[in-house]
Amino acid sequence: MEKLAVTEQEVWAALDEVMDPEIPVVSLVQMGIIRAVALQGQQVLVTMTPTFSGCPALEVMEEHIRVRLAELGLEATVEKTLDPPWSSDWISDAARAKLKSVGLAPPHLHGGDFIAVLDAPISCPYCDSFNTTLKNSFGTTPCRMIYVCNNCQQPFEQFKPL
Ligand SMILES: [Zn+2]
Repeated sequence: MEKLAVTEQEVWAALDEVMDPEIPVVSLVQMGIIRAVALQGQQVLVTMTPTFSGCPALEVMEEHIRVRLAELGLEATVEKTLDPPWSSDWISDAARAKLKSVGLAPPHLHGGDFIAVLDAPISCPYCDSFNTTLKNSFGTTPCRMIYVCNNCQQPFEQFKPL
């Protein structure tokens, strides 16, 4: 029996099930990491822009992409591009809500001028208070900063605006 051709839409849907290994509640698509998909027969070229050059897990991401697309009968090639560099503005609204739900304050939208938002107040993902203090500019990964909420006393991390 001849196999029905896979559509690009199905490829995007499958990629939306591949979670960010750093933050497993959000997908690579929701994080804006997957930039483009080019489908030609059973071959698919996936272009991705990693969130932060210092972040590990790149090979893990590539492997997960290849495995997921192999389930559709596709042979995936993953290409990385840093031009333009990844922007935290690309994180979808759905992903921002999910980051917050796991206690990770989403980065401010900066429209290209991220220096301008570095001093913007960060709201606590637990109680929404802006009464928060930066404790450490390097969290568990170089992409995150550690804050403490002076209102509910919860420490939390913020994803750095990039
Ligand atoms: Zn709080």
